Amino acid sequence: MVLTIRALDGEPRLAHGFSTLALGSMRRGADDPSPGTSARRAFVQELGLDPDRLTVAGAVHGADVARVDVPSAAVEGVDALVTARAGIPLLATFADCYPILLWDPELPALALVHAGWRGTEAGVAPAAVRALAREYGSEPRKLVAGIGPGICGDCYEVGEEVADRFDPEIVRPSPGGRYLLDLAAANVRALLAAGLCRDRIHMLGVCTMESPDLPSHRRSPDGNRFACLAAIR
Ligand SMILES: [Zn+2]
Repeated sequence: MVLTIRALDGEPRLAHGFSTLALGSMRRGADDPSPGTSARRAFVQELGLDPDRLTVAGAVHGADVARVDVPSAAVEGVDALVTARAGIPLLATFADCYPILLWDPELPALALVHAGWRGTEAGVAPAAVRALAREYGSEPRKLVAGIGPGICGDCYEVGEEVADRFDPEIVRPSPGGRYLLDLAAANVRALLAAGLCRDRIHMLGVCTMESPDLPSHRRSPDGNRFACLAAIR
């Protein structure tokens, strides 16, 4: 029902998880318009957190980061949230884009990032690393990163206009005459360039397009979303 990154499971101060469709769609729709939809609140409770403190990133595929000091239902217009406060569940939703968690176990401090191709090109993950350093003094080399489910490099076919924006090392020709883009690899490279250590970057390695229990915009563009939820305990 809830996927987690094994390397982060042992962090006593961190709660995290990725919802599957068994918990319902985490989309915000006309039938349930508040940021704290009933499915999202149930997911927060599933992780033993307080749904009344849920804080949702209203992702726009950019690189802006917001600092969260008090719960606020929705933080619009940002693709990354950072906090050093315990007990504030941070949530963002996805359907092929990658959720990325950044964890500073010493402070502790936490970042939740939403990275599709636009956000990856804009540098949203390194922007969150810089925000943790600026706001809380986190050292990038001490951060632990967890990259959740997303569309893999064998499935994510893009046109030349997108492929051209990325380093050729993470792009290859597709059988259909277009290009395959490895967004997870792009974000690993960006995190390494931002100062993270390779042995502290962990990938779940689950492809949304290949996993029927996760929503994928490419597989079925029905508007359904999964959520990444994380909080400091
Ligand atoms: Zn795949």
